[in-house]
Amino acid sequence: MCMPFSEEALAEVLGVRFRLSLSGCVANTPGGPRQGVRATDIPEPNGFAVLVSTGWKSLEAGFFPDTYAGDLVRAMGRKAATSHQPFLSLVSTFEAGGKRIGMKVNGSVVLPENGLPPPPWNQLELRVRRLTDATSGNDGDLQADAETVASACLALLLLLLPLEEEEPAGLPLFEAGLPEGACSTVTVNRYERSPANRAACIAAHGSRCGICGFDFGVVYGPLAHGYIEVHHRTPVSRMGDGYRVDPVHDLIPLCANCHAAVHRVDPPMEPETLREMLATRRRMTCRPDSRSHPVKPS
Ligand SMILES: [Zn+2]
Ligand SMILES: [Zn+2]
Repeated sequence: MCMPFSEEALAEVLGVRFRLSLSGCVANTPGGPRQGVRATDIPEPNGFAVLVSTGWKSLEAGFFPDTYAGDLVRAMGRKAATSHQPFLSLVSTFEAGGKRIGMKVNGSVVLPENGLPPPPWNQLELRVRRLTDATSGNDGDLQADAETVASACLALLLLLLPLEEEEPAGLPLFEAGLPEGACSTVTVNRYERSPANRAACIAAHGSRCGICGFDFGVVYGPLAHGYIEVHHRTPVSRMGDGYRVDPVHDLIPLCANCHAAVHRVDPPMEPETLREMLATRRRMTCRPDSRSHPVKPS
């Protein structure tokens, strides 16, 4: 049964959030038609959909491979051998946040505490379930809940997908305003650009700024709903050869302003330090006397 939420809106917001090309879809499953999203880069019948369904006071998003997605699933099994750490880190973050992850490989239940099974993977089931407030019956909530579970499921899948390796050079993200003659750009490194890392970071921490709490969707509406930048905490210069990014702990979602601010120093300022600075400044400007009399009469 189709639910009162828009799969097109779901594809739109997840596409913006993860910087992926997604399309909304309704697919026939043994349990009836289900709404969800597809990655448009991997066309049918070799790709997959993430479909949302309702259960008992719960909402679930699951991985639904196409009829001929065998090669894709086998490639995911090979990728899992190197990406099991961020994957399991994301699973435990989701579970700590009240989501339930169900996973089967080749028909056997996978328990995260035992790690991921070695290749070959011929069959993969992955579901993310979240309890919902069944009494609300609010369509807005359902859209948001569908976003939450689909976002979590897609973030886990992206860590397993054999995505193209990112080019090593940093790409300029935007020009920072500096005095004349000075020239600087904030560059996003490959860890910040990787869709899998972005997705894992945002699915774990949400799409509000981790420093000031700015939410693009709240301020700009549907135009920017889900938009956020991702900052890599560990300066590239301090990373050894064997460094593997943990998107949950090494990356943080930041608004464009806070992102520019942490990069005003090199190496970038710790986000927690800027958050404290901002809190101190807010306390100072919010004192009743300083608000009504910004300049004290002498
Ligand atoms: Zn911010
Ligand atoms: Zn950054």
